[in-house]
Order: sequence, then structure tokens, then C-alpha cells
Amino acid sequence: MMTEFKLPKPLPTPTEDSKPFWDGCQRQELLLQKCDDCGTWRFPPGILCPRCMSTNSKWTKASGKAKVFSWQVTHQAFYPAWDTPYNVAIVELEEGPRMHSNIVGCKNEDIYIDMPLELTFEKVEEQEWYLPKFKPASNANAPRKSK
Ligand SMILES: [Zn+2]
Repeated sequence: MMTEFKLPKPLPTPTEDSKPFWDGCQRQELLLQKCDDCGTWRFPPGILCPRCMSTNSKWTKASGKAKVFSWQVTHQAFYPAWDTPYNVAIVELEEGPRMHSNIVGCKNEDIYIDMPLELTFEKVEEQEWYLPKFKPASNANAPRKSK
């Protein structure tokens, strides 16, 4: 009997700038930098506010509310550990920034532009890592009926 070998899923590599974000994810909190001077939320992490160029910011917990800005479905794995088909979405957070993630908890064909979402965290199988994902919010449209 053959044993199927499966590569582990790749994990993020936190940088000095992004470490607070990833540390928050492991506590299942979505932390974003919020500018102390103009209040702009920013993502991805960086040293300067893109609006006022201030270097002053605090890591602040985001609401977890978001909507689909765009998405696509991948049918060919670009890395063998990923099971196809899977979606990659750009979600627009209620606070303004957009981030890449995956939509979970619904079929790929039920995803639509502006679909209301809420944050969830998924543990990467067999690894002590939580990644931020998004699922349809309770006020999302019901899934389309299959024909
Ligand atoms: Zn600012």
C-alpha cells in the first residue's frame, strides 16, 4: 500500500513590520495599524502612513466586517500542497484597507461582488498557525440554486 506524501502548506514569513499582525492572528485578532495623527487604517503593514506620512501608529483591532472587492477561482495548484479548486479574494475591510484572503463557508460559485463578509480564523492543518479568512455574513444573499 502506498502512502500519499503531502507537502505541508507554506506559512507566512513575518517581517519586523508585519510581526504584530501575524502575532494578532495567532490570538485570532485582526490587528491593523491605525495612524495616530490622521486616523487612517493601513494594510499591509509599513512604517509610514500613506495619507499623511506620519510614522506614529498603533496596532488596533479591526471590526472583522468586510465585503468582497474581487475574487477568482484557481483550478490549477501553483503549489502542490494546495487543494483545487480554491478561491483567492480581495476583501475590503470596513476600516478601508483591502487584503488578500480566501472566502470560506460557501461554494465558490456563490461568491459575488460586495458580498458582506465576516472574519474567521482557520488553523493551518497540523501546524500551529491561524490565518485570517472571511465567511459570508448573516445578511449575505442566499446561495444560488443549482440548475
Ligand atoms: Zn496618517
